[in-house]
Amino acid sequence: MQQPSRDDLERWDRQHVWHAFTQMAAYEPLLLERGQGSKLFDIDGRELLDGVSSLWCNVHGHRHPHIDAAIRDQLDRVAHTTLLGASNSSTIRLARRLVELTPAGLEHVFFSSDGASAVEVAIKLALQYWRQCPRPQPAKICYVALADAYHGDTIGGVSVGGVERFHAMFEPLLFEVLRLPRPGLYRLPPSVTAATACEHYLAQAEALLAEHHARIAAFVIEPLVQAAAGIVTHPPGYLRGLRELTRRHDVLLIADEVAVGFGRTGTLFACQQEEVSPDLLCLGKGLTGGYLPMAATLASDEIYRAFLAPYEQSRQFFHGHTYSGNPLAAAAALASLEVFEQDAVLERLPAKIACLAQHLARISQHSHVGDVRQCGLMAGIELVRDRQTQEPYPWAEGRGLRACRVALEHGVLLRPLGNVLVVMPPLAVSLEELDQIMLSVERGIEAATEART
Ligand code: PMP
Repeated sequence: MQQPSRDDLERWDRQHVWHAFTQMAAYEPLLLERGQGSKLFDIDGRELLDGVSSLWCNVHGHRHPHIDAAIRDQLDRVAHTTLLGASNSSTIRLARRLVELTPAGLEHVFFSSDGASAVEVAIKLALQYWRQCPRPQPAKICYVALADAYHGDTIGGVSVGGVERFHAMFEPLLFEVLRLPRPGLYRLPPSVTAATACEHYLAQAEALLAEHHARIAAFVIEPLVQAAAGIVTHPPGYLRGLRELTRRHDVLLIADEVAVGFGRTGTLFACQQEEVSPDLLCLGKGLTGGYLPMAATLASDEIYRAFLAPYEQSRQFFHGHTYSGNPLAAAAALASLEVFEQDAVLERLPAKIACLAQHLARISQHSHVGDVRQCGLMAGIELVRDRQTQEPYPWAEGRGLRACRVALEHGVLLRPLGNVLVVMPPLAVSLEELDQIMLSVERGIEAATEART
C-alpha cells in the first residue's frame, strides 16, 4: 500500500482528528514522528526540545532503552489480560512496588487508565466507604475542592474541578462541591501576607469543615501545586494542616498526584514533602514514565475493608475499565520505577531544579512577568499587562500562545495555560537542554509582550 504523503497526513489530521482542548477552526498541525531523550522530531526532521514532557507525563525521556525493552519483553508474553477476576504477574508486581513507594498506610491499588478515571474512582470509593464503614454515615455525599482545581474531564473530575472555563458549560450535570479559595501566594487578599497565608487559608478550610463535615465525604486536593490552574504553588504547611483538619473532622483526604507524582516536585511523591499520608492517592501521567495510559488509585486498609463482605451483600466496588492494570503498561511502569534507581533520577534533580530557579530569577525581572512559581522541575511564568497593579492580560489576546509560538521557532515545544507559560521538561533533561529551553522561553516572552495588543 502506498504511504500517505506529508500533505495527506496534514489534511487528514485537520479533517478527522478532533484534538483535545483545541479550537479546531484555528488548529495548525504539528506532526511529531520520533523522539529521543528530551527531544522530539517532526515529520520534516526538525528537532524540538520537549518542554512539556508530552503533556507532563514523560519522565526519563523518550525511547529510554530500559522501558522500551520491558515493553517488548511483555509483548513476547501477552499484551492484555483482564483484571476482572484474573491477574498477571506484571500488574501484581507493580501494585506491590507502588505500595512500597507511596506514603505509609496505602495498601491497595485500584488500576484504571487515565488521571481522570483515577480521580473518578477515588470519588466513588469515598462515597461507598461512608455507606459501608463500621459506623455508616450515608449523609456524607458531597466533596470539598479548591477554586481553580483541575482533576480531569470526566463528570466527577469536572465536578470537583474548579476551572470556570471548563466547568461552566457542564454545570447542569455536576454534583455538589463546596469550594475553598485557591491558596496561592500571588494576588493575596488584602491584609494577608506570604507569612500569614497558610494560617489564613487553613482557617477558611477549618470553618468550612466544622460547619459541613457531617455531609462531606472527602476533600480533594492537588498536593503542593495546582498545576492546571497555572502552576499555583501552595504555602508550605498547607497540605499538612489540611491532613490534620480532615482527620479531626472525619473527612477523607484524596490526594490527586496525577500531575505532581513521580519526581516532578523533587521527591517521588509530593505528599512526602509534608509527611502526609492521604486516605486515597490518585496516580497517572508519569506512572508509566509517560509511555502508556495507566492510572491508579491507592486506598488505605480501612477503606478497603469496608468493601469486604459475603458476596450476596453486594458490597464490592462496582467499577472497572477494560484495560485496568494492562500488563504492557504495568511492565512500562515497573521499568520506569527501576530507572529511577538505576539512573539515580531523584539524586540528580537538585542541580536541575537550581538551574531552573536561576533562569526564573532572571526572567522574573522582565517588565511583563507578574509572577514566577516553581516547585521542583515544574514552573509557571505569569505574563501580566501591568506588573505594578498585577493587571492580567485579557485572555483573548493569547499572550501565552504567542510566546509559545516563538519558543517553537527557537526549537522548544511548550503549551501555555492562558497567560501562564508552563515549563515542565522530562526529569532526564540535561542542564544544557534546560538552558536552551529557558532561553527560548525568554525569547518568547520578549516577542509576546512587545506588541501593545
Ligand atoms: N488530575 C490532575 C491534577 C491533572 O493535572 C490531570 C491532567 N492534567 C488529571 C487529573 C487528568 O488526567 P488525564 O488527562 O490523564 O485524564
